[in-house]
Parts: sequence; structure tokens; C-alpha cells
Amino acid sequence: MARYPHRSPIDLANLGGKTDRDVRIGAAARRHKRRQIAVGALGAALIIGAGLLYAHFRPQDHVSSASTCPVRVQCGHCGYTATLQVPMTQKFPIKCPKCGQQACQPLWRCRHCGAEFVPEPTQHPVRCPKCGSTRVGSAVEIGD
Ligand SMILES: [Zn+2]
Ligand SMILES: [Zn+2]
Repeated sequence: MARYPHRSPIDLANLGGKTDRDVRIGAAARRHKRRQIAVGALGAALIIGAGLLYAHFRPQDHVSSASTCPVRVQCGHCGYTATLQVPMTQKFPIKCPKCGQQACQPLWRCRHCGAEFVPEPTQHPVRCPKCGSTRVGSAVEIGD
């Protein structure tokens, strides 16, 4: 009890000092927190950006199971010819949209004379039935 009056002013001074420091620390913490939020937002933007870049450069990984490709087909039953969007894993023949028969085969095109044809399954290498050229390929391939 005798020491209380002696300690009390010191405690008060300490308390006052602490309070000031707490206010300053609080302000610094708030500034720090704002910076953390800013850094967090930047990080999120980077992650989103990286995700978009990944999706942009690796689309085949992203959609491979569900993706389709255009295939020019001819129905061996009714002769119907069309460019159909078919799954990458599609097996031929596929169902004809006109006559309903499972008879549509992918068409090839001769790079030499432009003829479109369904190659014989036993023919290797595939040759153009018109001119005999082996410069043939999928009819929807863009290029040469
Ligand atoms: Zn058909
Ligand atoms: Zn040809």
C-alpha cells in the first residue's frame, strides 16, 4: 500500500505511453492491412491472369473430352455429303442426317485435282480415284 502512490504515476505514464503506441501501431497495422489487401488483390489478379493464359495456351487440355471437329462426310447409302461437327473420338461410319443409315464416312480430297472421295479401307497408301495422286488428305483440312 505504501508503494502504490509511487507506482501509480509510472503505471499511468506507461499506460499513456502504451495507449499512444497502440494507436500508432493500430494505424500502422491498418496501413499494413490495406497493403495486404492490395497485395492479395494483385495476387488474385495474377492467379486469374495465369488461369486465363493457361486456358488460352492449353485449350486442348481444357476441352479435349467434349471438343468436336468439322469432318466432311459422305453417306455410302444415299450419297448425302455434309460437313458435320463430330467428337474428336468419333468412330466411323456415323449416322447419316438424311437417311438415318450408319453409313457416313469421312471424305478425303485430292490436293492434286480436287476430287473428293471416300478411300477404300484396304487401300494403302490412299490414292485419288480420279488422278491416282497420293497427295490426299482430310477434306476439311485447310492449307496446301
Ligand atoms: Zn444417307
Ligand atoms: Zn486427284
